[in-house]
Amino acid sequence: MDYISTRGSAPALDFEGATLAGLASDGGLYVPREWPRFSAEEIASWAGLPYAELAAKVMAPFVAGSLTEERLLELTTAAYGRFAHDGVTPLKQLDSQQWLLELFHGPTLAFKDVALQLLGLLFEEFLGRSDRNLTIVGATSGDTGSAAIDAVAGRAKVDIFMLHPKGRVSDVQRRQMTTVLAPNVHNIALEHANFDDAQAIVKRVFNDKGMTDRFAIGAVNSINWARLMAQVVYYFAAGLQLGAPHRKVAFSVPTGNFGDVFAGYVAAQMGLPVERLIVATNVNDILHRALAEGDYSQGTVTPTAAPSMDIQVSSNFERLLFDLGGRDGKALAEQMAGFESTKAMQLTNAQREGASALFSSARADADEMASTIRRAYEATGELIDPHTACGLFAARTAGIDASVPVVTLATAHPAKFPEAVERATGQRPTLPTRVGDLFEREEKYETLPGTFEAVTEFVAAHASPKV
Ligand SMILES: *Cc1c(COP(=O)(O)O)cnc(C)c1O
Repeated sequence: MDYISTRGSAPALDFEGATLAGLASDGGLYVPREWPRFSAEEIASWAGLPYAELAAKVMAPFVAGSLTEERLLELTTAAYGRFAHDGVTPLKQLDSQQWLLELFHGPTLAFKDVALQLLGLLFEEFLGRSDRNLTIVGATSGDTGSAAIDAVAGRAKVDIFMLHPKGRVSDVQRRQMTTVLAPNVHNIALEHANFDDAQAIVKRVFNDKGMTDRFAIGAVNSINWARLMAQVVYYFAAGLQLGAPHRKVAFSVPTGNFGDVFAGYVAAQMGLPVERLIVATNVNDILHRALAEGDYSQGTVTPTAAPSMDIQVSSNFERLLFDLGGRDGKALAEQMAGFESTKAMQLTNAQREGASALFSSARADADEMASTIRRAYEATGELIDPHTACGLFAARTAGIDASVPVVTLATAHPAKFPEAVERATGQRPTLPTRVGDLFEREEKYETLPGTFEAVTEFVAAHASPKV
């Protein structure tokens, strides 16, 4: 499989190249040249497969030419063997229509583990084939950081530099990153910065010749295609359990960077019968405005109880716009350049109509998040985290026909956000015992000004040159 850039001018790469490159050299994002498509019979034949085996089936077309299906299965078996639940991503029924897809049984308690446990192994596999070092530079609104650090800590040939906005991630989130003391792990708290600022610095590093000449800069954010690819799998897993391919399923997805929900779009392109993808935001609602009104303009970031969605520039939306605009990289490059200079853009009619065929959206404010957490607890005994609450709120208000199951992606364990959950329910969720000593461990991180110069200087002083 070949990968092409959404902005049309970077060279096409194979899966190995796209995984190591992260961002394309023209500033675009890599997407497969075409969507593989499975027949209904083929999808039906996967019912009941263990998760790691299903994962190898779903991802095989994407890695073709870089990994055999046998090797892929070895990697998925290793990656998903570290999950605390045998089903890896179990479904839980809330009522006659609503389901939760629990994506938080990995080592760091958020859905990011599903993709990053595999990505860490893919980096190791591909770097082992040649004499290269990889310098990962990433930004985190909380959960990517810990999941990526867990996935690469102590691995040879990889250094990771993880930027988080100082004071804007929860204590649990910060400690899950900063208590990993492996020498290849570098945590950086950025002063006077929010997640969008951190992400903008990371994107600049990728496009800075001074840095890319010396270092092979790699990505663990969802701009890296391999992450989205791994997330496609759980849409199939949930769909199959609820009767696909003979029955349609709707998904409600708490979204920030549009990565997780784009994976659902990919699953639909590959043949999974998806009734609707519901994009759930908090008050940082650029995606809701874009889908409901065609207005993709950057507002100011408001901190919320769901910090991993406190985002006003949604990188992966570019991948959808590319597809909906007939895959015209040149036109999209112009549209994105306009957005980057004015911080605003209007979707074209074709983009709006194309999106509305599959996507709806909703936005949950602080009261709606809290009342959704409370209601879920009172009705079912389940404690859900504030991100999941945005999803469940959107699921309940989307008006999906009662015959269609609606699956809300439960993206984080409630104990990652204990204050918000306790405020809403009076119950304090406890951390699973496997991470129970988090608050006793030593922390290590740098604090830097939130500038490109400060970050590149630090990275250059601590990273290994590419060869
Ligand atoms: C990252 C994250 C999200 C948003 O996911 P995107 O891929 O950025 O849309 C939602 N919930 C949690 C808990 C997260 O960590």
